[in-house]
Amino acid sequence: MGGKYYISVDCEGAACVVGTPGETGLGRGDAWRYACRQASLEASAAAKALFDAGAERVIVWDSHGAGVNLEYDLMDPRCEILLGAGHRGRFVGLEPDFAGVLLIGYHAMAGSEGVLSHTYSSKAFRRYKLDGRPMGELAVDAAVAGEAGVPVLFCSGDDVLLREARELLGDVAAVETKKALSRTSALSRHPAAVCQEIYDTVLAAAREGARVPIFTLPKPLEVELIFQNALEAAMWSVPDRRGRPFESPDELTRRGEVESVRSLFNTALL
Ligand SMILES: [Zn+2]
Repeated sequence: MGGKYYISVDCEGAACVVGTPGETGLGRGDAWRYACRQASLEASAAAKALFDAGAERVIVWDSHGAGVNLEYDLMDPRCEILLGAGHRGRFVGLEPDFAGVLLIGYHAMAGSEGVLSHTYSSKAFRRYKLDGRPMGELAVDAAVAGEAGVPVLFCSGDDVLLREARELLGDVAAVETKKALSRTSALSRHPAAVCQEIYDTVLAAAREGARVPIFTLPKPLEVELIFQNALEAAMWSVPDRRGRPFESPDELTRRGEVESVRSLFNTALL
């Protein structure tokens, strides 16, 4: 099977990644460096499987933080790599003729028990609700891909992330990298075993042309954001679909309706 694929690579969900206990995110120290290396190996295993299944084009997107994390020379040399920050929107260049999106190294949503769980910013958001229910980055990215007409072919992350995936995407092909014990501890599988299973699972999914239904969110889309503190809430500046600021029902909450999930990412990131 030929085809074009888009792999978004986050770092928190990779095998043996738990961040630095005592700190909120992944940081930029040794824990981050290890996460970048393992996420690169996992993404490369997925890319190799896609090419072995006959893919003609694979874009690997370095999507964690400011977009400069992965060890690019560990990637399969046939990949194209999207990196850095300052561009607008998520999945730049994703078109309806892509056969699938793969989400590697993803983490569970804000407020859940997953390893390094958060939605976009652990500093800003306590809960991120779309269409009336809490959602994480997996849901948002699946919906952004869905709006471009592209299904999620595969995802990987901890057991909590995989439960989110099952609820949203049914029996999407997936690999569990570790079991969350807390936000900063896990019982992980061996990094090499995870890479091998990602290769095998992606190869099978791409060969079968496994098609999970395309996931979408309603248009217009109801958004409710619960912030960690009043300052973060006051600073939220994305306009609603009429160009007005979101309502503030209380000092930690902002609520509004946007045209579509993509409208949340119309401004350049960082
Ligand atoms: Zn991340």
